[in-house]
Amino acid sequence: MRLLVVEDDPDLNRQLVSALSDAGYAVDTAADGEEGHFLGDTEPYDAVVLDLGLPKMDGISVLEQWRRDSRNMPVLILTARERWSDKVAGMDAGADDYVAKPFHMEEVLARLRALLRRSAGHASNELECGPVVLDTKQARVTADGQAIKLTSHEYRVFVYLMLHRDRVVSRTELVEHLYDQDFDRDSNTVEVFIGRLRKKLPGNLIKTVRGLGYRLSDRPDEA
Ligand code: CA
Repeated sequence: MRLLVVEDDPDLNRQLVSALSDAGYAVDTAADGEEGHFLGDTEPYDAVVLDLGLPKMDGISVLEQWRRDSRNMPVLILTARERWSDKVAGMDAGADDYVAKPFHMEEVLARLRALLRRSAGHASNELECGPVVLDTKQARVTADGQAIKLTSHEYRVFVYLMLHRDRVVSRTELVEHLYDQDFDRDSNTVEVFIGRLRKKLPGNLIKTVRGLGYRLSDRPDEA
């Protein structure tokens, strides 16, 4: 999952990026509204953390512009606690949720998890595919109740496939959603992680769809 953080306070920006990276997300960052708007307009983020008080272009305008241009990724806004009107304006501008400053990082993480799974159409933190269960809250994968150990890169690939299971995901899509913009995007690395995941997961859960990409599914192959 690839996230964008738009926050002009350097300390807060750093804290957010470090907590989100530790939680396994690829994170891009912007320190003003113009840069944030540009990145959100041109890169395929799975979710955005957007401060409202920003230099160059305020957060509400950034959000309104994205929504006008049909950029529909989930957006979590950061608001000042005493400014209830900011929350209303933010939700009306197209925000999916808000956290009031000062916040506990755990709350931001929990709200992002909820936004990401809801935008992929899931109501629960536990996702299942055949014998395999992914607990996105504990970052735990089990098969028939036995823990499966994944590296952080394998885990990222697996979570993305799990959230979009039964759908074909192209290699380009995986690369775009798994790595931040500074990463050397060699799509061969994705194939390596898919290969390792196949060895660790039971059965033939990750199918190759020739010429298109991969599909995670416990259904028999469609002819
Ligand atoms: Ca600010």
